[in-house]
Amino acid sequence: IVKYNDVKKSFGDLEVLHGINLEMRPGEKIAIIGPSGSGKTTLGRMLMTLEEPTSGTIEVDGELLWHMERGGKLVRASEAHLHRMRTKIGMVFQHFNLFPHMKVIRNVTEAPRKVLGLSKEEAHERAVEMLRKVGLEDKLDVYPSKLSGGQKQRVAIARALVMRPKVMVFDEVTSALDPELVGEVLEVIKEIALEGEMAMMLITHEMDFAREVADRVIFGADGLIVEEGPPSELFENPESERLQSFLRRMN
Ligand code: ATP
Repeated sequence: IVKYNDVKKSFGDLEVLHGINLEMRPGEKIAIIGPSGSGKTTLGRMLMTLEEPTSGTIEVDGELLWHMERGGKLVRASEAHLHRMRTKIGMVFQHFNLFPHMKVIRNVTEAPRKVLGLSKEEAHERAVEMLRKVGLEDKLDVYPSKLSGGQKQRVAIARALVMRPKVMVFDEVTSALDPELVGEVLEVIKEIALEGEMAMMLITHEMDFAREVADRVIFGADGLIVEEGPPSELFENPESERLQSFLRRMN
């Protein structure tokens, strides 16, 4: 469902990703772990269409994300193409980015109405279903400022889910939360993961969470994938010295 093909990314003179090849199968849950500054967020942001690769291609659901074919040549994708592709990709960020002037329900119905063109009733029905899923059906008419960080993040998850994306990217979604609120958010993500149908990329510093939820864990360092495999193998028998020392530090 997702395929990075020799993707490089530089900021000015600094190349932060040196040629990433990565595939996700439909429904697959992958966790991206690695030291700070290794390029995890940049990897996710390219899938979320927030950063453009410097070279290489990214495919989502059988179509190129950042490029289009024109007369047998690859050209930069148009805004219209990116717009259409974005509907396939759900995004949840470290900072929730809710619309502060809209009640919870409207935060969730806005995109299905504006982007998918659903009727008010359809959008409402879907939104309520998603808010129920994240345990917030009693907060429909509340403004975000009245919610805890964990609740805000759960609204952000509902807002992404309501679009029924093929792939969801969770970028360090618990990093900005008070420790006591982390659990409720991870629990919601675990439940969504168990439903199975969506592919999920979980960029995370929570090793226990990665171990529990991911089908496959990717360890990146210095802009490269150093090691990958099922969580049992990667966490129990890390091969590289880099991963061994990383895991020692995380424990
Ligand atoms: P962390 O776990 O701390 O979030 P990370 O692995 O997600 O780190 P990235 O945020 O992807 O790492 O950053 C990788 C490198 O790219 C860092 O050196 C960072 O300073 C640099 N970088 C990221 N975004 C930009 C930007 N917009 N402009 C310049 N440099 C950037």
